[in-house]
Amino acid sequence: MVKKGDMVYAWTSDADLAAKAECGGAVSGILKFALENKIVDAVFAIKKGQDLYDAVPTLITDPAEIKNTAGSLHCGTLLLSKLVKKYLDGANNMKIAMTVKGCDMMGLYELAKRKQVNLDNIVMIGVNCGGTVSPVTARKMIREKFEVDPDKVTKEEIDKGQFIIEYEGGHKGISIDELEDEGFGRRTNCRRCKLKVPRQADLACGNWGVIGDKAGKATFVEVCSEKGADLLDKAEKAGAIKTEAANPKGIAIRGKVEGAMFKLGDKWRRKDFGALAPGLWDTINKETSRCIKCYSCIENCPVCSTLAEDLIGKSLMVTGGEIPPNPMFHLRRFAHISDSCINCGQCEELCPMDIPLALFSHAIRTEGDNVFEAKLGEVGYKN
Ligand code: FAD
Ligand code: SF4
Ligand code: SF4
Ligand code: SF4
Repeated sequence: MVKKGDMVYAWTSDADLAAKAECGGAVSGILKFALENKIVDAVFAIKKGQDLYDAVPTLITDPAEIKNTAGSLHCGTLLLSKLVKKYLDGANNMKIAMTVKGCDMMGLYELAKRKQVNLDNIVMIGVNCGGTVSPVTARKMIREKFEVDPDKVTKEEIDKGQFIIEYEGGHKGISIDELEDEGFGRRTNCRRCKLKVPRQADLACGNWGVIGDKAGKATFVEVCSEKGADLLDKAEKAGAIKTEAANPKGIAIRGKVEGAMFKLGDKWRRKDFGALAPGLWDTINKETSRCIKCYSCIENCPVCSTLAEDLIGKSLMVTGGEIPPNPMFHLRRFAHISDSCINCGQCEELCPMDIPLALFSHAIRTEGDNVFEAKLGEVGYKN
């Protein structure tokens, strides 16, 4: 019987899924099992679009389509949480299983606190996350640093501190540290992120800690809730998923890697926030002066769920038609979201004027975390 707190190596018994999957296909196998057995009405996950820089959200009701979602897309910077509110009626009328990175998961909790999504109807299959690379940066980095045509790349992965590509004619890896020192690599919010193992999901799945003959062929699954335990138990008993106890050395290695990632996150926070500190408000004022008031930062923020309508509809305290808008536009937004900002990076990623918005709200939130509860990453919900 699988219990909350268990740690296992898991893999799918479906050979087709395993062939396409990142690390043995436990995630895809569990999603397929949940759909086939009507535990959920639909699966909401990510699939490859035009190319591997193009991660596309997809809602699946036919179990045969799950194979299209297998594999990790490290240029998949999108956030699924708000799409559940916008397009799936907040999961109020259907049960959904979702693959979630730490930020997708935190976004769901923030929306649930605001009664915008119904967590009772969502099963969260968490994936550990070392970070994602913006598609534009990835293409530039591959062309300039790897000296490879980005359109010739057939696979990318992040492994043992390197960004690795396979392409027609070979493969190449460059250390993430080196790439980031030169302005490439992961998004800046991801560098500061410390939610590496999403333990507030129902299951937390990743490749860290898988050693021995299962390395690369299985996923390390930490069972984080009763809901997760029940699903994994059923999938295993039905033969959809195979498991074995995680190797104790693997558990220790996973803990060490997670600890090293926390330190790296702290290093980037010191660097980014330190550079901002001398004149935070001056910098905000200067940077936001190129805002074209497109509202993308509001529309795509998982925390900003009600003020968007207020700001767009009534332009409270902001004169209509002014470009750039009065600084009050940004100050109201920061006041509204910074206490809850989850550092998902959507505002910054989707700002057409490249304003480092996540840096500002994350810096303000982190200051608040020194005093207030709950801290970033602690959701205040019990599974
Ligand atoms: P599969 O069966 O291949 O299923 C993969 C699932 O991931 C699918 O449901 C797919 O929709 C979903 N997915 C793919 N790309 C994204 C995306 N960008 N955002 C949200 N969902 C996505 N594990 C670690 O231990 N350490 C790490 O540093 C680490 N970094 C990761 C970074 C990213 C961006 C992703 C997506 C995963 C990362 N993982 C990491 C998890 C690991 O790569 C595997 O996803 C995990 O071991 C499950 O393997 P699997 O074969 O069972 O998954
Ligand atoms: Fe992963 Fe964190 Fe970046 Fe989200 S913010 S993509 S969880 S590193
Ligand atoms: Fe302004 Fe950028 Fe926000 Fe658009 S996304 S409103 S340009 S700050
Ligand atoms: Fe994410 Fe930006 Fe909203 Fe913070 S303010 S939660 S980084 S979109």
